[in-house]
Amino acid sequence: MATNRTFTMIKPDAFSAGNSGAILKMIEEAGFKIVAMKATQLTPAIAGKFYEVHSERPFYADLCAYMSSGPIIAAILEKDNAVEDFRKLIGATNPADAAEGTIRKIFAKSIEANAVHGSDSDENAAIEGAFYFSQIERVG
Ligand code: ADP
Ligand code: MG
Repeated sequence: MATNRTFTMIKPDAFSAGNSGAILKMIEEAGFKIVAMKATQLTPAIAGKFYEVHSERPFYADLCAYMSSGPIIAAILEKDNAVEDFRKLIGATNPADAAEGTIRKIFAKSIEANAVHGSDSDENAAIEGAFYFSQIERVG
C-alpha cells in the first residue's frame, strides 16, 4: 500500500473541551505522522467554502455556524492507506453509531459536534489540505 495523506480538523467542540492533545495522541499511536498542523478559527464564509459540497443539505447553515464558533486545529496526516484508515479511526458521523474505541465514540458530543473531520477520498484530501496549507507550511 502506498504511503499517502489525509486531512483532518479537530472541531470546536473537541478543541474547547481540551481534547486536542488526547486526540492527536490517538492519531499518532495509530501510525499517522503529522506533516502539517495549525490552530485557527474559521469565519462563517470560510467554513461555508470548505463545506460547499453540503450546501444543499438542511444542516448546512448550522454546520457553518458551528464550525466557525471557536478555534479548530487543521492537520495533514501521512500513513499507508491514510484516508480509509483514518475514517476507521474516527468512526461513523453520528457518535451514536460509531464503533467502540473510535475518536468520535470517545469524544463527540452530537452528530454535528462530532469532534473531528476526516477526508473521504484521496482527491478530497489533497483539495482540503491545499485549502489550509501552502507548500512552505507542510512537509513535502
Ligand atoms: P463526515 O464528517 O463523517 O464525512 P458528512 O460529510 O456527511 O460526514 O457531513 C459533514 C459534517 O456535517 C459532519 O461531520 C457533521 O459535523 C455535520 N453533519 C452531518 N450530518 C448531519 C446531520 N444530520 N445533522 C447535523 N449535522 C450533520
Ligand atoms: Mg464528509
